Amino acid sequence: MVDLRSLELHEMEALMLRLGQPKFRAKQIFQWIYKGISDFDAMKNIPKILRELLAQHCSIGTVQPLEIQKSKKDGTRKYLFQLPDGNTIESVFMQYKYGNSICVSSQAGCRMGCKFCASTRNGLSRNLTPGEMVSQLLEAERDTGEKIGHIVVMGTGEPFDNYENVAAFLRIVNDQNGLNIGMRNITVSTCGLVPVMEQFAADFPQVNLAISLHGTTDAIRGSMMPINHRYPLEMLLAASKAYTEKTGRRITFEYTLVNGVNDRDEDAERLCRLLHGMLCHVNLIPLNRVEGAGFDTVSRKRAAEFQEILEHRGIAATVRRELGADIDAACGQLRLGKQQ
Ligand code: SAH
Repeated sequence: MVDLRSLELHEMEALMLRLGQPKFRAKQIFQWIYKGISDFDAMKNIPKILRELLAQHCSIGTVQPLEIQKSKKDGTRKYLFQLPDGNTIESVFMQYKYGNSICVSSQAGCRMGCKFCASTRNGLSRNLTPGEMVSQLLEAERDTGEKIGHIVVMGTGEPFDNYENVAAFLRIVNDQNGLNIGMRNITVSTCGLVPVMEQFAADFPQVNLAISLHGTTDAIRGSMMPINHRYPLEMLLAASKAYTEKTGRRITFEYTLVNGVNDRDEDAERLCRLLHGMLCHVNLIPLNRVEGAGFDTVSRKRAAEFQEILEHRGIAATVRRELGADIDAACGQLRLGKQQ
């Protein structure tokens, strides 16, 4: 079975030709799928014989919602989806002043091994297909009845460790015959796979890049993120600078604040020195505590003080707003809870 949500339009055209059908059928089917239709018989302008052929060979989406948590405070919804092979993934729907956004997972599990992160606990199970990423968005649209105009690839997984599928996903959601989500409305977050950052800048110069920094020396960052041993700070920052020069786009540096590890005044000051003169913005995230990780979070007050130091030195910084604080919306924890 081919999951049609995994196909770019040109791949769907090739499929039509293989099925002995005219190429223009692909665009018609593509348009139905991205209107949210998942029943071939509802595709009114497609001849019955082709609908039957499609039903034999293809599916439209393969993820099933297992659990949906709804915040009573702010419209945030957290989804736990089941994949056909039994893996589970999670996604978060969020409402902002500028519109609706979804945080999608790119892998089932993760092999990057960040010490404070729940998603990496049981390692990588497998890469998600483009269709499994597209489906997270379409199923959330179906459930909420809302259109989603923004995407952050910040759920479980390292998107640059599954680059080909993430790239296909970006082209599918951007296609003007379908969801037509602007590249500028999409953000991809990486733990810092330097060679892929270069590829990404060449392939998607309009998509926003977020980089998980979290530490200002190799010792601190390395103690939180094993990837720092392969791509240490100096390499990462050089690649970040090259990225901004090539694309003209501002990088977001994510900085998860951990009590006593990276939240001191000297850390803030070092951060300013590292980022001085770079086209960037810092997003401070008070740690979401993960059971047994041995890391402690910081108060909102400490986060605000840290922000103040950065702002004072001319580094733009925000503290991530807490959405869905009353549901289990913290980084990978719903999925982890289900596995144990
Ligand atoms: N693999 C990508 C995207 C995954 S998570 C990356 O590393 O960027 C998105 C962000 O949440 C990352 O900055 C990640 O480091 C951070 N994060 C993960 N677990 C967290 C936790 N328990 N508390 C706060 N931030 C966390």
